[in-house]
Amino acid sequence: MDSNIFVYNTLSRTKEAFEPIHPPHVGMYVCGPTVYGDAHLGHARPAITFDLIFRYLQHKGYKVRYVRNITDVGHLENDADEGEDKIAKKARLEQLEPMEVVQYYTNRYHRDMDLLNVLPPSIEPHASGHIIEQIDIIERILENGYGYVVNGSVYFDVEKYNQKYPYGILSGRKIEELLSTTRELDKQDEKRNSIDFALWKKAAPEHIMRWASPWGVGFPAWHLECTAMGKKYLGEQFDIHGGGLDLMFPHHECEIAQSQAFSGVAPVRYWMHNNLITIDGQKMGKSYGNFITLEQLFSGEHSKLEKAYTPMNIRFFILQAHYRSPLDFSNAALQAAEKGLKKLLEAGNTLQKLPIGNTSTSDIKALKTNLYEAMDDDFNSPIAISHLFEAVRIINSVNDNKETITADDLELLKNTYNEFVYNILGLKPETEVGQDSYLVGGLMELIIDIRKEARNKKDWATSDLIRDKLSALRVQLKDGKDGTNWSTE
Ligand code: ZN
Repeated sequence: MDSNIFVYNTLSRTKEAFEPIHPPHVGMYVCGPTVYGDAHLGHARPAITFDLIFRYLQHKGYKVRYVRNITDVGHLENDADEGEDKIAKKARLEQLEPMEVVQYYTNRYHRDMDLLNVLPPSIEPHASGHIIEQIDIIERILENGYGYVVNGSVYFDVEKYNQKYPYGILSGRKIEELLSTTRELDKQDEKRNSIDFALWKKAAPEHIMRWASPWGVGFPAWHLECTAMGKKYLGEQFDIHGGGLDLMFPHHECEIAQSQAFSGVAPVRYWMHNNLITIDGQKMGKSYGNFITLEQLFSGEHSKLEKAYTPMNIRFFILQAHYRSPLDFSNAALQAAEKGLKKLLEAGNTLQKLPIGNTSTSDIKALKTNLYEAMDDDFNSPIAISHLFEAVRIINSVNDNKETITADDLELLKNTYNEFVYNILGLKPETEVGQDSYLVGGLMELIIDIRKEARNKKDWATSDLIRDKLSALRVQLKDGKDGTNWSTE
């Protein structure tokens, strides 16, 4: 299969011709969320990046098996080998079962992904559902001599591994540098070496999520789950492994080491990493006060936000940058994206009713070629979008009778535009809340009545709350002589 696609491989640090192991099948694994809180901008970028890749590969005729996991056990605080399990901690604080926390945030993650028009993966495995597979891999790593057991926990022996395979091959880190920069081991530390990492941890008595193993009761460490689930669903060697740049080290580096240590083969042909999102030039984090969840973006309820932004606005904003470029979030940038998206979608409507001429003044075939060339070049969505804006210019010119287009070219333009805008970039018109909708109309009447009652009783708090909540949903109220009317922006 001759796809012409070139992908940037983090492993080789070059663009390589995309040649899957078993064409037309493609195996793609992407590290999914640890479900202990609401999804934020940092979750939206990998989800949308690999959704774009998933969509484009399918468009090019590949049969993609896309695995995106749910981390529900073993991810400890600070991504370290010590500390409390993120989900267990949330469960303890909220007095819930850990799996209640997992289910709650998984449902909310799915809802956010649906709103962003991110297609569901082919398989969405949970780490806690693959304990047997993880134990099996640890046993094989121990058999091959790359791990050791201490007091019910199992660790990966990085120095031993590095004698045969280069550790740090993905991130470009050297073991000597890592040894000099990692902290000295505490006396009570079980590791032989500070760069070793956990495969299995003994469960303390208070640890809720625990399973029996050959080494006693415990739980799997975080890096292991992706190795186990990738192997189970995609085989010992598969095509694409993706995730955010923050996962490259140690998470993905450890995945490579674990896989080679048990099977002797490199697990992944193309490693792909999306760059990170900053907010007003700053790293995003709870401590910076700029931690914005997707729900807050959609509702506008955050002190950093000037207004609410629709899911498609967020999606288009992310697609306007190449996935390997850093992306800075700001109200100005999002509002610019909003205008661009509106133009693109409006042109999509105009396109349906263009007049047909005897000649074409613009080269539609060249436009189509340019779009494919952009996407074939490491999924360059910003360049593809710039070509779509050239299409917008042509559409509007023809509509204003400044240019002409033949019936054949119009057909080609329609097909190409629809395919790229709606199917490949995955954009869609925002659902309009129609005033003719029976339920919405009835509910709005009820809300307006409650607000009127509140105002009659001089209950300004309630009336302000109603106005603010509606305004966050972009519903405007207008008080007039004959009552209150409402409209959407
Ligand atoms: Zn992972």
